Amino acid sequence: MRSPLKMTEVTYAELVAKANAIAAAGARGHLHTTPPWCLITGSPRRAIVLEATDEGAVVGFFDDQPIEDRAKPLAILLHGADSVPGDGEELQPASAAVNTMADRMRAGKGHFHILNPVCLANPNPGRWTILFEDDELGVLESATAERPLADIRLVERLIYA
Ligand SMILES: [Zn+2]
Ligand SMILES: [Zn+2]
Repeated sequence: MRSPLKMTEVTYAELVAKANAIAAAGARGHLHTTPPWCLITGSPRRAIVLEATDEGAVVGFFDDQPIEDRAKPLAILLHGADSVPGDGEELQPASAAVNTMADRMRAGKGHFHILNPVCLANPNPGRWTILFEDDELGVLESATAERPLADIRLVERLIYA
């Protein structure tokens, strides 16, 4: 992973404004939620990291409290409402590699990132990478040329559970 990313620290209000501006302009942008000591931030704090791809800019909102509830509406705004599966929705089977990572996450051994082909943190530029930072095993990754929809939905359900 090419990290930590260089980023500008912003307030939550500034983060929301940035996400809204990207969405309103139809520009490319995506976000990551990061726990303490995540490779993307290298920070002891939690963060929501927003990459404004068309500007080549990265901003981060840092906090000590859980940030998933504050990230979710921004994820829907930037990634689309179907990016967060409903609780009752059936999922296609995920890949074996990502299922292994999911088992590690359920055991509390680490956390996921979904890295798209233009993500600055992606160790495989131009490809999709599902990456798992395992506290014991190090970085696990699964890279594919096509968007791995079943894997992504499994991971998003775990992240936003
Ligand atoms: Zn991380
Ligand atoms: Zn990214």
